[in-house]
Amino acid sequence: MIKRIWSREILDSRGVPTVECYCQLDDGRFATASVPAGTSTGSHEALELRDKDLTRYHGEGVLKAVENINKILGPAITGMDPTKQSEIDQKLISLDGTENKTKFGGNSILAISEVVCKIAASSQNKALYTWINELSVERGMKKGVKIPTPLLNMINGGLHGAGNLDFQEFWMIPATNKKFSDGLQMAVEIYQTIGDNLARRGAIHSVGHEGGYAPNLFTNADAFEVFVESVKQTNYSLGRDVFLGLDVAANSFYKNGNYTIRDRSSSLSDNQLLDYYKELISNYKLAILEDAFQEDAWDSWKKLTTELSGSVTVVGDDLLVTNPKRMQKAIDEKACNGAVIKPNQIGTVTETLQVVKMAKDVNWKLITSHRSGETNDSFIADFAVGIASDYAKFGAPARGERVAKYNRLSAIELELEAIT
Ligand code: PEP
Ligand code: MG
Repeated sequence: MIKRIWSREILDSRGVPTVECYCQLDDGRFATASVPAGTSTGSHEALELRDKDLTRYHGEGVLKAVENINKILGPAITGMDPTKQSEIDQKLISLDGTENKTKFGGNSILAISEVVCKIAASSQNKALYTWINELSVERGMKKGVKIPTPLLNMINGGLHGAGNLDFQEFWMIPATNKKFSDGLQMAVEIYQTIGDNLARRGAIHSVGHEGGYAPNLFTNADAFEVFVESVKQTNYSLGRDVFLGLDVAANSFYKNGNYTIRDRSSSLSDNQLLDYYKELISNYKLAILEDAFQEDAWDSWKKLTTELSGSVTVVGDDLLVTNPKRMQKAIDEKACNGAVIKPNQIGTVTETLQVVKMAKDVNWKLITSHRSGETNDSFIADFAVGIASDYAKFGAPARGERVAKYNRLSAIELELEAIT
């Protein structure tokens, strides 16, 4: 039984406040969870409640969300059985009572939902990923866990970078038949080679929000060139061991009906941008393309999926925001064939599982994702394994808050090998 829930404000990897939540059971057992936050957030996401008190953290404090947990939401679920995840989530959702969790904030609600999930696993002496798999089975999904293929964000641009590249995330994707730990090792070797090459060109000053390099290059295509050159210098081969992918995060360079990127001298219409993607896909053998158009350009998404889903996985993030209604629209309109899954876009574990089920029912690829503002909490790694996600997107293979998740996947891989 839940004896007590309480919360405090902590900092995320960007130095921005976020919510940490604690839970204690009547048997004395104890768990904590903290929630991430996005920088390039979709406008249809659940509300991240911020204090807007300009005397603290430029208005970004989360003391109201903390108080919502300490005074209202925590007491409301005290006494409940933590293994009743959907009942607890439902209670939080109805207490909030708004469409996008604007009353209490998705950040306070998710912090509770996740800490409950963790303590329920622990109270049954189960691994967190095993428990999450059982919760997915409860919702009609198949039993069985899987280590996802990582999408490693080597070069950061857009709102995550230093202002030089328009596209947000340039990924290295290990071949899906590779063992996770072998793929991770390969990623690190390629990451370090890219770093050396950027340094030699005098093009590197820093890393971006997700630990990928934030280089000074002329065009987005130049980032792919550095990538290709770097892979060639290792023992790995592009198209066999390694594939490339992109989170364009097109919202961030869309304005007044056009997209402005440094690869082209004038702004591009949706059709011109689509032609540019076709070039990139054939030149660099891209395997996955996320958020290629802005979040409400449904017709362009449909066209993209019709024309390109044979050669590339078309993935929605800001388009879908892990929201059942937007997911249903995307399924009905065939707007993509892959979904990014971010629990904090919707605000509870149960609703996230609902969206996962919808995607699985139509055989879409699943990318379980961190946020650009992270903590060292590795809940999302267990979540990805528990829902048998195809891919996991946890940033570069560098920086503590990113490797916390990759290291957790390695630990789970060892555990699964030991029991089979
Ligand atoms: C993303 O866009 O997929 C992402 C992880 O970035 P953010 O967390 O800033 O939305
Ligand atoms: Mg994205």
